Parts: sequence; structure tokens; C-alpha cells
Amino acid sequence: MAGDPFDYVRGFAVTFKKLFEDRLTDEYPKEKAPIALRRHGRHVLNRYEDGMEKCIGCELCAGVCPARCIYVRGADNPPDDPVSPGERWGFVYEINYLRCIHCDLCVEACPTEAITESKLFEFSFTNRQDAIYTRDELLVGDDGQPQKLPWEDWRPGDDDNTSAWMRATAPAGNANYVGRVAWAGELGYGVRAPEQGQLDDLPDPPSDALPTEDAHGHDDHDGGHH
Ligand code: SF4
Ligand code: SF4
Repeated sequence: MAGDPFDYVRGFAVTFKKLFEDRLTDEYPKEKAPIALRRHGRHVLNRYEDGMEKCIGCELCAGVCPARCIYVRGADNPPDDPVSPGERWGFVYEINYLRCIHCDLCVEACPTEAITESKLFEFSFTNRQDAIYTRDELLVGDDGQPQKLPWEDWRPGDDDNTSAWMRATAPAGNANYVGRVAWAGELGYGVRAPEQGQLDDLPDPPSDALPTEDAHGHDDHDGGHH
């Protein structure tokens, strides 16, 4: 059965009307949508403010990774020139980005906040070798900044609040800790501020609920370190 012949014209009317509406598309890649505060992107291996590496080669991140894309080897620190404040350091560290699903479980497992994620997600490769980031690429530079590799498109803000979820979450879900800093300072940034605006209506926690930290930021409460 033939339809209404005016349906055809009405279809074009919809198209014509859209010509005068605001465009919803962005001029990507020249313009980008705002970065979500807790976006999970390319990892970084952090260093303490004194330049020492945070990774102690414990392999917990590799053990928890559901995609099995992390490979870590630890070694004893050279006594006369230690790389990390612990007994050991991660002398091999690799992440295979052909497999990583950016779940951040590695970040959650890490006892020293060595591995976190930036917000950079625009990186692509032309070969498998480039997709496997090694310690040389993941470790932040002497200025504390992530290394900018030729195939990565870093924009301002991609390194703000690195792994912001970690900086926003109360240890063990205890609301008294929301917004309270319980992580170590980082080379180039110092102690990063927690994410604001989570629970503004909560009263201040009692002072004895606040974590205390040693020189490298390890809080003295059992349980969560984030
Ligand atoms: S973000 Fe998830 S998948 Fe990627 S390396 Fe970490 S644990 Fe593995
Ligand atoms: S990044 Fe963290 S969890 Fe992974 S080996 Fe280093 S210290 Fe351990």
C-alpha cells in the first residue's frame, strides 16, 4: 500500500530544520570536549619529591591486572645509590596498551602510589613495540612531568589530578577521610590537593581521625592507603 506522498517532503523538512539548530559536534581534534575529572588514561610511574622512584617492584599491580598486561621485575636497591626508598625497586616495568582496559585496578593495588593514570587517552601506535610502554617511557622526568612521546597528543589538563579517583576517595570508605590528604607528595607537584565538592555538607573530621605520614607519605593507619 502506497504511503502518504507528503511523507517524502516532510522528511526533507526535518533535515531543513536541523540546518538552523546549534551544532552538537565538536571540531575534533582541534577542539575537544572537556576532560572528565576522573578519566583513566595513559599511566605514569611517579617519583617522590626528592626524585626517588615510588615503585618498589612488588608486582602487586601485575598480580591484580585483569588483562595481564603489566610485567614487573624487582631488584635490590644498590646500597650506595638507591633508586627507591624501599629495599627494592622496579628495574623492569612494562604495560602493554594493546591489552590494557584502563580499569585502574593496578593503581588501587599499588601500596606506594607509584603507578597512577593521567587523563591522556589519545595515543595510537603503528607497531606492537610502541604499544608496550616500558619504564623508560612511563617514569616521569626530572621535572615530574610525564614524558611526551611523539605519538601522544597531550593537552593542558591531561596531567591534572592524575588518577583523580584516588585523590577523591576516602580510605576504606570512611566518610571522615573524604577530602583528607593521605597520599605522598610527587616530584614537580608536591602534595596534590584532593578533589573538591564531594561531600561539602559533612562536618570536619575529629583531629585524631586524620592520618599521619612519614617522610614518604605512608600513613600509619592499617587498611587503605588512598
Ligand atoms: S588499568 Fe587495569 S588493565 Fe590497565 S594495566 Fe592497570 S590493572 Fe591492567
Ligand atoms: S607500581 Fe606499585 S604495585 Fe606495581 S610493582 Fe611498583 S610499587 Fe608494586
